Amino acid sequence: MAFVIAQFKVAFFLKILLCLAVVQTCKGYHDYLKYPFIRPATSMARSPLNQTYDYIIVGGGTAGCPLAATLSRNFTVLLLERGGSPYGNLNVSLMQNFHIGLTDMTPGAAAEMFISTDGVINSRGRVLGGGSSINAGFYTRASPRFVRQAGWDGALVNESFPWIERRIVHWPKLAPWQAAFRDGLLEAGVSPFNGFTYDHIYGTKVGGTLFDRRGIRSTAADLLLSGDHENLDVIIRASVQKILFRRPKGKGKPRAVGVIFRDENKREYKAHAKGEVIVTAGAIGSPQLLMLSGIGPLSELKKWKIPVVLRQELVGKGMADNPMNSIFIPTKKPVEMSLIQTVGITKKGSYIEASSGFGSTNDSIHCNHGIMSAEIGQISTIPPKQRTLDAIHEYRKRKRDIPVETFMGGFLLAKIMGPLSTGHLSLSGKDVEQMPEVTFNYFQHPRDLRRCVNGVRTMEQIVRSKRFAEFTQDNEYTMKMLLNMSVKANINFIPKNSNDTSSLEQFCRDSVTTIWHYHGGCQMNKVVDSHYRVMGVHGLRVVDGSTFLSSPGTNPQATVMMLGRYVGVKMLRGRLGRRAGV
Ligand code: FAD
Repeated sequence: MAFVIAQFKVAFFLKILLCLAVVQTCKGYHDYLKYPFIRPATSMARSPLNQTYDYIIVGGGTAGCPLAATLSRNFTVLLLERGGSPYGNLNVSLMQNFHIGLTDMTPGAAAEMFISTDGVINSRGRVLGGGSSINAGFYTRASPRFVRQAGWDGALVNESFPWIERRIVHWPKLAPWQAAFRDGLLEAGVSPFNGFTYDHIYGTKVGGTLFDRRGIRSTAADLLLSGDHENLDVIIRASVQKILFRRPKGKGKPRAVGVIFRDENKREYKAHAKGEVIVTAGAIGSPQLLMLSGIGPLSELKKWKIPVVLRQELVGKGMADNPMNSIFIPTKKPVEMSLIQTVGITKKGSYIEASSGFGSTNDSIHCNHGIMSAEIGQISTIPPKQRTLDAIHEYRKRKRDIPVETFMGGFLLAKIMGPLSTGHLSLSGKDVEQMPEVTFNYFQHPRDLRRCVNGVRTMEQIVRSKRFAEFTQDNEYTMKMLLNMSVKANINFIPKNSNDTSSLEQFCRDSVTTIWHYHGGCQMNKVVDSHYRVMGVHGLRVVDGSTFLSSPGTNPQATVMMLGRYVGVKMLRGRLGRRAGV
């Protein structure tokens, strides 16, 4: 009898496996039908590209996808992305896997971890959709002031944001932690309440999200469906090594005419552009690729023996990242996981956000701190330079021993506006796969530190609000005990003396983490002109967050996506006028 039951169980198990395989295959087939224009670079060994494209776009990320979709309405476009497909990757698709995606260190994973020279652990997208495929999903527009300062055409900006929003942005289902945070912000005086809005306005608001109500992510890659697929080739796992230039006889400027890229097997291919090469490789990838192609500071090009196409001392300069500081708040009961949904936009140069992880008394191993998970590098109990991959490894080893209560709670996060502290990017090798060396100089500018102190003080007011008292541990002793556990669990210190500004400044420096809003490196009117054309050469643009002088809105992705669409429409209307039809 036992043998029959065992056999039945095995058969049942095999059937389940078969069903899963069929579902997976059908899903893959479905993806293929839906996205026939996406193929891996290795497939080119069998069927090479023999076409010269009107536009070659480097980097299928947050700006590259909407730009490619738009230009392909009227011209042939080749989009080259170093990462793989987001489709079928559960670390990309599921909100609850946010922190798992960021810890995946297998070669070719969707996120690439790096540590800036400041010692802060950071991440960048390496997947079609770029940062939008691995981020926390919060969607909020740049302010009208930012739009004016960027010199953009306001009417076209107001057409371009909704183009994105109609396709991939959702209204969130407000999680309990986010609702409590909304009320806490209002009690702390971050008012008025502006309800649900994409707009960047003072006060408290609920913004858009890339996650639908089931927690399934849309990404910038989905925008490719709005392109003309006859005109669009998207090659994934295609890592662009350098941009090719033709030097005119005589004195004219060099012209970008194509690129060299490599597949996973390190086989090289060339692609040619009749029109332009457009670099949308992100705030790290774009300055890196310009340098590798011979456009950059002379000392850097000489150091790596890169033939000079154009001496441009400002490539890689003006790199900045918005520092994030956080406070962990233990709660009486487990809270539901939430990434960012509500924000407080203060008049003192700080933005306050909130997140909660997953804490369960029955399942300690799957507990996590969401955005502040130590596994992803947000180890703010030790000062930046001591945060290493070994520290993460140590945490993972002893995670089982950490009391589950430590995971019951949520975070308040303070991010500063701007920032005014800037750093630089330099190459760490001649291979594009080598992560460049990046320095952000967090809090070097005194105003950034003041903004951080203001942010921490606002967070403390929120913690003391009546609404938060319902949530948090009210017993002094338990509170202390849990905070000690927090230290053991590598979550946040709590500022020791909030009346003393210098103590708060120290807290800001010691507990600084990133909110991953790094930008700069190919800034407007320094490296690119107001049409995003690289100054000093022909046929080359950079269109992404590397051109920003500061981070737009509370969170940048909406504006980066909008920029891709905006520049695409501008280019089409510039070339075709009304015939462009966009
Ligand atoms: P990307 O979007 O990453 O685009 C660059 C693309 O180019 C990548 O796909 C990359 O693989 C590719 N590439 C680079 N070099 C090459 C090359 N040589 N050849 C071919 N391809 C190349 N913003 C928000 O607004 N809301 C949030 O909630 C939010 N949360 C975040 C959470 C995390 C973990 C991260 C990392 C970011 C978050 N951001 C958020 C920031 C936002 O996602 C980014 O600012 C935005 O996506 C732009 O990122 P990027 O500049 O790195 O470019």
